[in-house]
Amino acid sequence: MEAKQQLKSLTPYKPGKNVEDVKKELGLKKIVKLASNENPFGAPPAAKQAIEREMSQLAVYPDGYAAVLREKTARFVGTDRENLVFGDGSDEVIQMICRAYLTADSNTVMPTPTFPQYKHNAVVEGAEIREVPVRDGRHDFDKMAEAVDEKTKIVWLCMINNPSGEYIRDFELASFMGKLPSDVLVVCDEAYYEYVVAEDYPDTMSFLKKHPNLIITRTFSKAYGLAALRVGYGIAHPDVTAALESIRQPFNTSRIGQLAAAAALDDQDFIKECRDVNRKGLRLLYNFCDDFGLSYYPSQGNFILIDFNRSGDEVFEYLLKHGYIVRSGTALGYPTAVRITIGSEDQTKDIIECLSAWLKR
Ligand code: PMP
Repeated sequence: MEAKQQLKSLTPYKPGKNVEDVKKELGLKKIVKLASNENPFGAPPAAKQAIEREMSQLAVYPDGYAAVLREKTARFVGTDRENLVFGDGSDEVIQMICRAYLTADSNTVMPTPTFPQYKHNAVVEGAEIREVPVRDGRHDFDKMAEAVDEKTKIVWLCMINNPSGEYIRDFELASFMGKLPSDVLVVCDEAYYEYVVAEDYPDTMSFLKKHPNLIITRTFSKAYGLAALRVGYGIAHPDVTAALESIRQPFNTSRIGQLAAAAALDDQDFIKECRDVNRKGLRLLYNFCDDFGLSYYPSQGNFILIDFNRSGDEVFEYLLKHGYIVRSGTALGYPTAVRITIGSEDQTKDIIECLSAWLKR
């Protein structure tokens, strides 16, 4: 028995360290995890109430069509129901896109470094991967356009690029879409959409109206604080969503996930508050970097990539010993950097104090 040849180059996704494991390993009482861009405030209260109400229904299959969540999301984003497709996290939407569009004789274009699941799923489909290095953390659109040819099926745009935090400007998307053949699917990954404050960030929904070869992916895992429940979605032309629906697992999102996500959508005050606190945290970290002469990318997400000018693993180990789990840049394509998720204001102040004490030594 031999699995597909291309799987040999793949390693399973390596998530941020687990809090309980680290506590035991290091004998620490308190661990703060700032490694997976989760929301430090958890989920909005209405989502938790929805989950409690649903506990009596655990024996019942979910609605595969996610009608209630679909209706709410359609109204919220201003689109029609058939323009939506829901996934087991936006991870699964990314997987479905690859499954539906990539073949062994096609290629796909993406920036690097970026979110690794684009490449991972494309490798599984046997497609040729064309990675275009980012410049200063930003997509190199000229080079990406050059990499596209008649065999290109998908171009990936990480709108708020993970791990740099840099974002795609409105004019960049407009000019890129203008250059691209209309039979190439462009994925706009907006996992961190709710955190964006930049005024020149593109209105991707209006791009979608003009360009039916575009799909927007969003998630309830980040600002909505529901990473555990795995709900994400895609917004696209009905031809695209129909292709994805045809390969979707029948019950890919859970009852609890659907209901919690629908309830969370109603609490936009919560989202605004999270966005504001995130901005404050980022400002504190920018000041810290400026004080110590560390370079960083300004971020539109809930994380920041800081270059410490020494091994990212060393910074990671130091922070771990002091009770913080962050993400070393070694595995993210930035070996001298560390990616830190923006926590609560207190968590941010504490980690800054911890790092400052170290850097002053
Ligand atoms: N896209 C990006 C850019 C991400 O950073 C993540 C999560 N780390 C995802 C997609 C997937 O998130 P989820 O599957 O939880 O929706």
